[in-house]
This record gives sequence, structure tokens and C-alpha cells, in this order.
Amino acid sequence: MYKRSRPAKIISLVIVVVSSFLAVALQHWKITEYFDLVLYDLQMPLWGQPVPEDIIIIAIDEKSIAELGRWPWSRHIHAQLIERLSEAKTGMIVFDVLFSEPTTAGEGSIDEALVQNIADNQKVILPVAGIISPQKGIQELLPIDALFQASHSIGHTDLELDTDSKFRRVFLYAGLNEARWPNLAVAALLANNELDRLPGQRLERTVRNHNAWVRDHYVMLPFIGGPGHFKTLSYSDVLDKNFALDELQDKVIFIGATGRGLSAAYPTPLRLHQVMSGVEIQANIYEALRTHNTISEMPLKVLLMISFIVTFLSSLLISFGNWEKNPFYLMGLIFGVILLGEITLLITNIYIPVISIVVACIMTSFSISWLYLKNLQNVAESDALTGLYNRYFFDINLRLFWNLGKQYQRPFSMLIIDIDYFKLYNDDYGHVQGDQALIAVAKALQLQTNMQGYKSCRIGGEEFSCLMNNCSAMRAKQHAEQLREKIESLKLEHKTSLSSSVVTISIGLATVIPTDESDSDILFKAADSALYQAKEQGRNKVIAIDLDDPDMNKANIDGSK
Ligand code: GH3
Ligand code: MG
Ligand code: MG
Repeated sequence: MYKRSRPAKIISLVIVVVSSFLAVALQHWKITEYFDLVLYDLQMPLWGQPVPEDIIIIAIDEKSIAELGRWPWSRHIHAQLIERLSEAKTGMIVFDVLFSEPTTAGEGSIDEALVQNIADNQKVILPVAGIISPQKGIQELLPIDALFQASHSIGHTDLELDTDSKFRRVFLYAGLNEARWPNLAVAALLANNELDRLPGQRLERTVRNHNAWVRDHYVMLPFIGGPGHFKTLSYSDVLDKNFALDELQDKVIFIGATGRGLSAAYPTPLRLHQVMSGVEIQANIYEALRTHNTISEMPLKVLLMISFIVTFLSSLLISFGNWEKNPFYLMGLIFGVILLGEITLLITNIYIPVISIVVACIMTSFSISWLYLKNLQNVAESDALTGLYNRYFFDINLRLFWNLGKQYQRPFSMLIIDIDYFKLYNDDYGHVQGDQALIAVAKALQLQTNMQGYKSCRIGGEEFSCLMNNCSAMRAKQHAEQLREKIESLKLEHKTSLSSSVVTISIGLATVIPTDESDSDILFKAADSALYQAKEQGRNKVIAIDLDDPDMNKANIDGSK
């Protein structure tokens, strides 16, 4: 198992906290909303329900247009329809057609017939729409006063499209400056006493802006069925009594345009982005509310808190559960978070967008894996006992420095350092203390070389090397000499040494300006032979070989102690 150092633990914790805030930011600024909605739409088919028997749509469709003439029809025709429906003793009638202008002079009596029939019927709900006009700003488009008075009640037709232009959400109440109009379907449910409680997210404060469209009780709408799901009759067939009127008795009637080009068509999250007419959407709202199937969102603050907590716990698991080695754990977690969101939605009708949490967990996982890889790299390149670079790192850097020296024509120096009579030290003081001596020597070596940007490596049992890029023979010699003195000054007792009473080292040094003709082996061999000479000459010595200056070699050798 990978054991984390203290700083790595702190970094891991920081990653966990940063990821948790990342999830909150993504959620707050709705950055992942598009993907959340894709996920939301995928589960939409699960909300389907059988066709309700008591809802009928009377469609202003192509057939009716063909039979009754071009739209808009005379109000006389609508008056006749209402008369038929009164005859049929239907339930509530949601008449999703705007009657906001009086019929022009000379036809006043036609308006009167419609007014009269609606008043007689007592169950007709008429729409109010919010429109924006360039001169007057936002306006409420109500039915003409006489129809307003005659109707049972008024409902709004405000259907909002999401940022991806699909219809998913509805405001159960809306209006100009005050959310006073129920939605058409809500008005029908209220009339039938079928709405025991109003679901949906409330406005956080009562908004009474001047000339603003205000909305309240905001819910997401699962679709009971796609276009054509509800039982639908052609307007003209009802007028012509092409079927027994008994069929309409006590039914809730939704009247509206479904024909292509006649009504606004709303793209839905249903398969293939099926478009749906406003009147079918009203029927869906009616049925969803009646069967308590609307979907609510959480207040933003609660959602942000949940995102933080879930991301925090998941990220802790990712960070400290040693998941780096198995990407399937992360995949499992992502799947789990998504599933949790879906199950919560299906069981509680509460929608929690989870993609921001998923993205943050992936970020945690990437960061933790990066830390782990860094640690692996350290382990792969360092020597377990002394913490110096190991032989593997030495081989790689030898080639690297060689190439750098060749490219810039700079001297490359290498030390090979060997502890004198170390076998005797082990024999005398034991292997454990031998290890301690190795560590002490390595530490001194590291201190001495780190400052200069040189690389110290343990290349064998009690053998070390120092790779010195861009370092002349003179400077390398000085450095080696300081190192030798430093080890001597550690005064690690070594009674059986034949060269001193303390632990000492011998150093072979070689320097060369690399060329195309030579390779790094010659440097290694030269340093090794210099070490051999140092041992030969009594140990605790530095012998230097400059491969580019044979004369100087001799002086160096002679001048060494
Ligand atoms: P010389 O002065 O010629 O270098 O003699 P030496 O005894 O130092 O050289 P030799 O190569 O004969 O012995 C090296 C010894 O280093 C042998 C081995 O016991 C010891 N050694 C190698 N690796 C380790 C280690 O990891 N821990 C300890 N305690 N000893 C080690
Ligand atoms: Mg040796
Ligand atoms: Mg030795």
C-alpha cells in the first residue's frame, strides 16, 4: 500500500476541499447544466402513465381547418362548440384560445353569442397571456371584458423554454407585477377541487416590481405521454356531432390548436425532441399535478450544500481510499452518484443535478493520481536506504548530461566515491551501524552537492557518484576535496581502518568535454580508474583525470593528498 508522506496528506486534503468548492461553483453558475439536462431527459420515459380516461382534447387541427375554413374562425363557431359541450354535460372546459380583441363592429352579436354560451356553461376557463410590446413593455393579454365576466376563471399560458430551447418547467402561478393567475391546468384543478397542495419552488421574496412578469410555484414537468397520448377529437367532429355526445359527459375538456402552423410547438425532452402543442402540454400539466407527479428542484442554497457534502465525502474516499491503482473504483463512484440522483428523483420527485459533483470527483481523482505518479517517480528514482538518487536515475542522467555537454561543448565531471575499508567497518560494528554510516555519508554528500545543482547517486553498496554538468576539472577537484574533508570531519569512528581512525572516502574524478566520437563510458571508466589510483595511493584521497588535458592529470595526481 502506498504510504503518504505528511505533505502529501496535506496536499490531498487541499485537493478534496478545492474539488468540493469546484462542485459548488459549477452548480451555482450552472456550468454543467447542459449535461444535467441530458441526464434528466434520459429518465423522462420512466414517468409515462396510461391514457387518462377523463381528459379529452378538442383539437383545432388540419381537418377542422379544412372543414371550417381559415383561422381565425368566427366566434359564432366557438359559440356553437360551447353549446355542444353544454349539451354533452362535460366537466371543466379549458379553452386555450385568446379572445383579447372584440370582434369588429357589425359582428358584435357574434361575441354576444359566445359570451352568452360561456356564461350559461359556467365551466369555461379562458387564458391570459403575457406579451411584450415595444411601446408598452410587458402586458397581460386578458379576454375581452364580457368574456372575462362570463368565464368560470382565468388561467395563464406562460410556458417557459430552457436554455436548450426545450420545455421542461412550468410556473404554476404567474402574472404582471404579481403572480396572481394560476396556470390554465391549475385553474381547472382548482375548479374541480383536485389540488390539495401546490408543489414547486417558491419565489424567495414577494416580488412587486413595476411592470415585470412575476412567476411563482415553479415545477419541472414529467410527461405523462408524448404528442397524441391524450384522447383527441377534431373540433369539426364535435361540432358536427360525429359521435355520441355522451362520450364527453363529465370529461375535462382542453380545447386548443394542434395543427401545424396554428399553434406554438414546444420541443420537449421526449425521444427525438418531439414537439408538442400548448394544449397537450396543459393536459400533461393537469394530469401530472393531479397524480402528484411534478418534479421539484431544491432551493439553491440547499443544493449547493448537498453538492459540497457529497463531493467532499466522495473526494475523501478517492483521496484516502488508495483508489489510484484502480480506475474502476472512480467509474463505480460516478455511476453510484448518478444512480443516487436518479433514484432520489424517481422516489422523492426531487431533482438534484449531479454532473457538477461528478466533474469535481474526476478532478479529485486526476489530482490524486498525479500526486501518486509523482510519488512513484520518486520511489523509482531514489535509493531506499539513503534517499539519494539510485542507479537507474544515475544511468539516465549520465546520458542526459553527456548530451547536454556535447550540445553546448561544456565540461562534464563525474565523481565516483567509495568508502574506505567498509567491509571491515561492517565486520567490526555490525551491519546496522554500517547502514547508519552509509546514511551519514550520503547526507553529507547530498548537502554538499544539492547547493550546486549536482546530482548525487548511490550506485552500489558503499559506492556513490556525483554527476556535475558544466563543471570544469578544477572546480570538480575543489568540490571533491571539500567532500573528502567533510566526511573525515564527521569523525565516524573506524578503528579497523588502515588509513585513518575514522570513516574516510576515496574519490575518483574524471572530466571531459563530450564529443560525437566518444561516449559516456569513457568518463565512467576514467573516474573508476582514478578511484583505483586513489585506493592504490593509500585511500582518503582524490585523484582527478581530465581527459582533455593529459598533462594536467599528472599534476592533479601528484598534487593530491
Ligand atoms: P575498499 O577500501 O577497498 O573500498 O574496501 P571495502 O571493504 O570498502 O570494499 P569491499 O568492496 O571489499 O566491501 C564493500 C562492503 O560494503 C561489503 C559490504 O559488506 C558493504 N556493504 C555493501 N552494501 C551495504 C549496505 O547496504 N549496508 C551495509 N551495512 N554494508 C554494505
Ligand atoms: Mg567498493
Ligand atoms: Mg570501499
